Amino acid sequence: IKVTREEILASRKSLPAYRVRSQLLQVIRDNQVVVVIGETGSGKTTQLGQFLYEDGFCDDGFMVGCTQPRRVAAMSVAARVAMEMDVQLGDKVGYSIRFEDKTSPATKIKFMTDGILLRETLLDKMLDKYSCIIIDEAHERTLNTDVLLGIFKELLSRRRDLKLIITSATMNANKFSQFFGDAPQFTIPGRTFPVEIIYTRHPVSDYVESAVTQAAKIHLSTPISSGDILIFMTGQEDIEATCSGLREKLLDVYTKKNSHNDNNEPNDIEIIPIYSSLPADVQNKIFMLMNGKRKVVVATNIAETSLTVDGVKYVIDCGYAKLKVYNPQIGLDSLRITPISFASANQRSGRAGRTGPGVAYRLYTEDSAYEDMYLETIPEIQRTNLSNTLLLLKSFGVDDVMKFPFIDPPPRKTIMTSLFELWTIGALDNLGFLTKLGTLMASFPLQPSLSKILLISAQSGCSEEILTIVAMLSVPQVFYRPKERKEESDQARSRFFVPESDHLTLLNVYSQWKANAYSFHWCRRNFLQYKSLQRAHDIRRQLSRVMVKKNIPILSSGSDWDTVRKCICSGYAQQAAKLSGLSKYVHLKTGMELQLHPTSALFGAGDLPPYIVYHELLLTSKEYINVVTSVDPFWLVEYGILFYNVKRRVEETDEFDV
Ligand code: ADP
Ligand code: MG
Repeated sequence: IKVTREEILASRKSLPAYRVRSQLLQVIRDNQVVVVIGETGSGKTTQLGQFLYEDGFCDDGFMVGCTQPRRVAAMSVAARVAMEMDVQLGDKVGYSIRFEDKTSPATKIKFMTDGILLRETLLDKMLDKYSCIIIDEAHERTLNTDVLLGIFKELLSRRRDLKLIITSATMNANKFSQFFGDAPQFTIPGRTFPVEIIYTRHPVSDYVESAVTQAAKIHLSTPISSGDILIFMTGQEDIEATCSGLREKLLDVYTKKNSHNDNNEPNDIEIIPIYSSLPADVQNKIFMLMNGKRKVVVATNIAETSLTVDGVKYVIDCGYAKLKVYNPQIGLDSLRITPISFASANQRSGRAGRTGPGVAYRLYTEDSAYEDMYLETIPEIQRTNLSNTLLLLKSFGVDDVMKFPFIDPPPRKTIMTSLFELWTIGALDNLGFLTKLGTLMASFPLQPSLSKILLISAQSGCSEEILTIVAMLSVPQVFYRPKERKEESDQARSRFFVPESDHLTLLNVYSQWKANAYSFHWCRRNFLQYKSLQRAHDIRRQLSRVMVKKNIPILSSGSDWDTVRKCICSGYAQQAAKLSGLSKYVHLKTGMELQLHPTSALFGAGDLPPYIVYHELLLTSKEYINVVTSVDPFWLVEYGILFYNVKRRVEETDEFDV
């Protein structure tokens, strides 16, 4: 459906933000920092940049930058704004996310993840290109947003002409004002409708199943025109399960109803999954109007505030989210499915009341809500490993990270363990200063373990292989496992297995794809995600460019797999484990019990290797480790993982030279 320019302008003008355009611009002109508060959907993200552009903030070669906590939001919003401004995406309006830059010299309004802006501040400490930065969705309090706020606190006094706009949903706004010396708050007036909240009477044992039941019930008992359904789940796995469960359930009902004819398709419904690794075109479906069909969007908490789905009347909230959790006692980072906070639960329910009164079904009891939920989500900075952030801050010139102005300081213990980790890995010297290795590590947009492996690989002559492995670890799942063809796809996957290593398995997949001329059809036949592989190819190219720029040699080991595995081992100091019994592993440092994930190439192998390192720890009902490589215990000794040999390790760091 083609939308006319008049229609676009009309929909812009109907947004609450548009109605206060001139007052808002005035406050921005009069103040260096403004906190803008508005309900989700009021037009903060899509309109603010355009207002500034129209008001001349992009004259004289300046840009307006707008950060987003999520990649998906950065891409989607940039596309929307380009469309509203009637320009090509990547031209006047562009976006930049890790490993994907869709901007050009002509770009005036640039959407980017908060991580990208953080990296930009390393290269250009004054952010000279920008006249104004919008830190959007600040209430989400992602790690990178928090660090940016700290950096801005100091930067603003050095660049008096730079404007900072912090936008936030209705919570937390005071905190931001206070942090910037009582910066003024501008509230976009807006109206929301009442939402009836319905808790379950009994605890729910399987939230996917109850969500499916609830959604089907709504769909079958209310007219389609009454409104769409938005379901909150935790991630790709339960989202896909909900989507297929709902499809099956409805198909079942329709088949029973229409057993006398063949028209059994549930074609009055459009079920749309949304999570970060889905391609953009699929995600954009959530904004499409479905003629006569009911939309059911099944999303992660991205739909809490980042993306506004219009027309939702029913919200179903599973009550959980996947959160990164760090335990500084044992120095481990993991993804954990955790109860959401009250603030999140209310944001989720609120999505039902944007265009009219709505209903929110909470798949948990009222009692459990009061028992299990915090009032607000704990900011990421207080529950995550900080080694990556501290490495960046150090290379930004912040020597004493304890003195950095954090809006909410992380636990001292986390700072200490993260610094210790950086030292263990050789990025810091005994006095806490960046080593040569550490400085080089910071120039790669990668987590420290991966940049370390990459740099070590240049020394040990296998950077050709490690480049591929690191690139493959930076993309979503490459193996495709359709529900209807599980066995076939598992067989296809196992043909790529390198029995001692998932890292090498990934390398093998990539090499074979390359040998088959990067073919799409070959991927199809082998149950591989073509898009993920393409992306790995692209990321590999970008990483090699950084290597070339930094004069780091790209060398092949010539199939010397031991060298490659040894190099992999060097990066995972905190992630080494030892076999205990026949099939269990225990974490070397903490003794925590770990299970091999069933998708690992090592899973189910007869003789499991006595020592391994792993890339990923997943906490569900069990502690699963995934992407695992068997290692020689002597390597662990050599890298100071099995026993610390301080003197030796430091010498190694000092000698580091590539
Ligand atoms: P806020 O940032 O205040 O939450 P937004 O600026 O994101 O609000 O959204 C304003 C309006 O623009 C909403 O009605 C939203 O649905 C719409 N919108 C945003 N992105 C798109 C898109 N890609 N396609 C269509 N409509 C969109
Ligand atoms: Mg927004």
